[in-house]
Amino acid sequence: MKLVILGPPGAGKGTQAESIVKKYNVPHISTGDIFRENIKNDTELGKKAKSYMDKGLLVPDELVIELVEDRLNKDDAKDGFLLDGFPRTVAQGVSLDSILDKNNEKLTKVININVDPEILIERAVGRRICKSCGATYHVAFNPPKEEGICDKDGTKLIQRDDDVEETVRTRISVYFDQTAPLIDYYKAQGLLMDIDGSQNIDKVFEDIVSGLE
Ligand SMILES: [Zn+2]
Repeated sequence: MKLVILGPPGAGKGTQAESIVKKYNVPHISTGDIFRENIKNDTELGKKAKSYMDKGLLVPDELVIELVEDRLNKDDAKDGFLLDGFPRTVAQGVSLDSILDKNNEKLTKVININVDPEILIERAVGRRICKSCGATYHVAFNPPKEEGICDKDGTKLIQRDDDVEETVRTRISVYFDQTAPLIDYYKAQGLLMDIDGSQNIDKVFEDIVSGLE
């Protein structure tokens, strides 16, 4: 199983990724983890990546690709993997294909978790959190017993800055603008598997599994 998972922020991609790697016994490869690992181990690639991050700059594409290639060549990824957070653009998708080509490999499927942007916005904007115990609520789907107050410890609930409507809209539209061409790229190759991510978590996973089998 050589898989890529795509999905807008808030679509539940992380939860599904966890279940997929468990079921198929493949490593979960995310670019964030690759960066952290290389920086922690002070590798040459890690040093290069850190020099950009320390300056608050984006790690350039060529370096991200090198890091991904290095990770995919590790033993545990030989028989399969789930890539998360890479590729994000068609250019990165083309690079991934050429990395796999070198080993005569190709992707099995690209899992695309679809959720209507308006639903994602509704989910995020209604989210409230308790800063003292970390509990999360939703004003419509999972409200506390008393409005604005944590059930567990009586702390006043807050809305994260990230969940303010305008911020959420921007984050989601950046994702769709960037990823739409990549989705078309995989669709043209017959690799795309569209999954309805607005269903409950278990049903979404069921659909992924039946799509892969
Ligand atoms: Zn609390």
